[in-house]
Amino acid sequence: MFRQDTDGDATFRAQVRQWLGANLPQALRGRTARPHPAEIIPWYKMLSAKGWIAPHWPREHGGMGASLAEQIIISEELARLSAPHLPVQGLNHLGPIMMRYGTPAQNKRHLPPIISGDVIWAQGYSEPGSGSDLASLTTRAELKGDSFIVNGQKIWQTWGHYADWMFTLVRTDPAAQPKHAGISFLLIDLKSPGIKTRPIVNIADDDEFAQVFLDDVVVPSENLVGPLNGGWKVANDLLANERLFTSSPQWSLEVVSRIVRLAEANGSAKDPVFQDKLAALRIRITAQAAMFWHAFDLIANGRTLGPDASTMKLVGTDNLQAATDLLIEVAGAHGADVERLPAGEDDVDVTQIFLQSRRATIYGGSSEIQRNVLAKRVLGLPG
Ligand SMILES: Cc1cc2nc3c(=O)[nH]c(=O)nc-3n(C[C@H](O)[C@H](O)[C@H](O)COP(=O)(O)OP(=O)(O)OC[C@H]3O[C@@H](n4cnc5c(N)ncnc54)[C@H](O)[C@@H]3O)c2cc1C
Repeated sequence: MFRQDTDGDATFRAQVRQWLGANLPQALRGRTARPHPAEIIPWYKMLSAKGWIAPHWPREHGGMGASLAEQIIISEELARLSAPHLPVQGLNHLGPIMMRYGTPAQNKRHLPPIISGDVIWAQGYSEPGSGSDLASLTTRAELKGDSFIVNGQKIWQTWGHYADWMFTLVRTDPAAQPKHAGISFLLIDLKSPGIKTRPIVNIADDDEFAQVFLDDVVVPSENLVGPLNGGWKVANDLLANERLFTSSPQWSLEVVSRIVRLAEANGSAKDPVFQDKLAALRIRITAQAAMFWHAFDLIANGRTLGPDASTMKLVGTDNLQAATDLLIEVAGAHGADVERLPAGEDDVDVTQIFLQSRRATIYGGSSEIQRNVLAKRVLGLPG
């Protein structure tokens, strides 16, 4: 988008395009909601067998150790085919954090099954009374001998009822002040006795979330990641990763490809006003992509992202919603149709992707919270 392929890049792009074209099942292309595990995990495993499931992971941990250019190319080619969203809690959120905070024994145990797709992870942060104010969480873990005894409730776990393990924030020191000084980061096997998961069906009739109830769950102390009562730093570094990946231009590019197909099919493509709006959107996404890949470059060179991740999440999710707004506009009188709209040889889903994009400004910390972070940590405004 904002860079030219070198000859070597062009060769790699051709390989990726050819392989994805030949192997990504038709049924998984152009999907709006994340397909269920039975459909998506075989594709995850194919990417893993090809060695492309984790371009951003170093080779010593089973990743591809891809150059920045290779990562951009893979992401762009996946967007070109409207590839489905993979379960990313292990790949993008937990994996890089374990490489920083995990012990060699923890990494040996937990990283390979993420790469192979044999273990699905859920994120156990939010609770019924603790979302934006995450430090107020009350799920309690008491250290008794070699184990933590965990009691409490989590909510909004993406794929919580399909997951095998959950990385969780727990309160290990209830008296600590400030509140976040009493929180630890714990890995919990969701098959442990005392755990119940209950799916939550969303407005799109998708059972994407779950509640997780923990009742005297025994968790070995070796599952603690980072220091006891030092989980807040681990949790926030993980959130920075989550915010970074949420701002991937891939999601907006997939909407742009729908806009273009629909506009060509219904004649809007010839309208100069539409052309202006599309050009403006493309410029925004190009700037976002430059920022996104610059952040990857910084990380590859040992930097961690601080409030930059909040800026990126704001920009990425604003662009995504601007793109779905334009998609609705191009659909004109059909902008509220639930059915997919015909677009040449293909069809395009309009309302589902519009609705799905609304939540991007909530998960991983809402836009209001990102603005608060920037106000306090970048602008130094009073809290
Ligand atoms: C699609 C999706 C997937 C999710 N997946 C997971 C998951 O896998 N694991 C997990 O643990 N959680 C998950 N969540 C939960 C998510 O992290 C929370 O919804 C989010 O942090 C907001 O918390 P809340 O829903 O409790 O809203 P609240 O914190 O109650 O906020 C309600 C509203 O008030 C605003 N607000 C709150 N505090 C302030 C403030 N100080 N200043 C200004 N405005 C404020 C918020 O911006 C929001 O608009 C997911 C959510 C969504 C939508």
